[in-house]
Amino acid sequence: MDMASGNSNGPLSRRRTRTVRVGGVSIGGAHPIVVQSMTNTDTADEVATAIQVAQLARAGSEIVRITVNTQEAARAVPKIRGRLLAMNLDVPLVGDFHFNGHKLLSENPACAEALDKLRINPGNVGRGARRDDQFAQLIELACKHRKPVRIGVNWGSLDPALLARVMDENAKRDQPKDAVQVMREAMTASALESAAKAEELGLPGDAIVLSCKVSGVQDLVAIYRDLAARCDYPLHLGLTEAGMGSKGIVASTAAMAVLLQEGIGDTIRVSLTPEPNGDRTREVIVAQEMLQTMGLRAFTPLVAACPGCGRTTSTVFQELAQEIQAHVRDKMPQWRLHYEGVENMTLAVMGCVVNGPGESKHASIGISLPGSGETPVAPVYVDGEKTVTLKGDNIAAEFRAIVDEYVARKYPRRA
Ligand code: SF4
Repeated sequence: MDMASGNSNGPLSRRRTRTVRVGGVSIGGAHPIVVQSMTNTDTADEVATAIQVAQLARAGSEIVRITVNTQEAARAVPKIRGRLLAMNLDVPLVGDFHFNGHKLLSENPACAEALDKLRINPGNVGRGARRDDQFAQLIELACKHRKPVRIGVNWGSLDPALLARVMDENAKRDQPKDAVQVMREAMTASALESAAKAEELGLPGDAIVLSCKVSGVQDLVAIYRDLAARCDYPLHLGLTEAGMGSKGIVASTAAMAVLLQEGIGDTIRVSLTPEPNGDRTREVIVAQEMLQTMGLRAFTPLVAACPGCGRTTSTVFQELAQEIQAHVRDKMPQWRLHYEGVENMTLAVMGCVVNGPGESKHASIGISLPGSGETPVAPVYVDGEKTVTLKGDNIAAEFRAIVDEYVARKYPRRA
C-alpha cells in the first residue's frame, strides 16, 4: 500500500481533481489528503496567534486558517508570518474573511501578500446589491495577489437570496423536494455558482477549493457526494459545529470516513470544540488518526492495545500502552527528521496470553503482558519473532529501549 498517495486496496481510488497549490502544499490531484486546522486566538494578538499557529503546525497541521475580521487583525497578519518565519515555520496561512474581506484586503495589501489562500463564505460576502460587487472585489484581489481561494459555504450562513430562489424553483416542480433536500441543493448551488462566477471573473480553476459544511452527518455525506459528481475542484471536508469531546470526534469521523472511503475529500479539518483552556492541537491529532487508521496516510507510529477484560485485573498494560504512545509522540519530531518511513512502524501492547502473542506478532514490535494468574513475564515480538522475555519492575523502560533500538536499526537514515 502506498500510504503517502492514499492508493491502497482498502479505500477506493481518490476522485480525480485539479491540483491547487497553497504555499508549499498541494491540494487535490494525486497529492496526499491534507490536514488543516484553525486558530481560536484573537488574530490582532500577533504573539498569541503566532504561538498557536506554531503549536498546530508542530502537531502536524499542514495548513492553518486564521480569522481576519478587523483592521487590527489584517495588520497583524504580516507580523504573524514574520514571527513564524523566525521560528523556521513556513506553514501555509489561510485568511478567513466574512462581510468586510474586500475592504480589509484592499486596504492591507501586506495582509493579502502574507496569506497563502483566502477563504470566502459566499453567504457572508454582502447583502442585496452589494453582494455581487463585493464578491467580485474579493476575487479580483485574489487574482491580483495570485492567491487561491476556498469557497466555503456553511449552512449556518447560507446566502438567503439564493435559498429563496432555490425554494421558489422547488415550489414550481411537479413533485417538490422536501425541506432537507432543498437545503442541500441550495448548499451545492451556492458553492458551484460561486466557483463559476469566480472563474468568469478571472480566477483560474486550479486556484479554487470548495467546501460545504453542515453539522449533520447524513447531510454532509449527501452534499459532498453531489458536489463530487458535479465538479473537479478539490474538496475540503469537515463537519461544522461538530461539538466537544467524543461526540465531536465520532460525528466528524462517521461523516468523513464514509466520504474518504469513496475517494471524496482532498483536505480535512476536524472542528472540535476544545474544553475551556483545552489543547487546540487535539483536532490535528484526531484528523491524523482518522486518516491513518483508514490506511490513507501515515503520520506517527500507532499503538494497538487490547481493551482489557476480566483476565487482566491490573492497570499495568494500560499504563504501558499510554507510556509507549507518549514516548512515540515525544520522539517523533526527531525520528521523522532522521529516519525514513518510521511513521509506518506499528506497536502492540496486549493484556494477556489470549490474543497477546498473536496481535504482537502482527506488529513491528509487540509485547504481551501477563494476565491474572499467568507467570509474570512479558514476551516481546519483533517483526513477528519472539526476541526476549521481559520481567521485573523495569519492563516499561526496557520496552522503550527496544523500540528506540528498532527505529535506529530498521529505518534508513535520511541524508
Ligand atoms: S488480550 Fe487478554 S486481557 Fe486483552 S482483551 Fe483479550 S483476553 Fe482480555
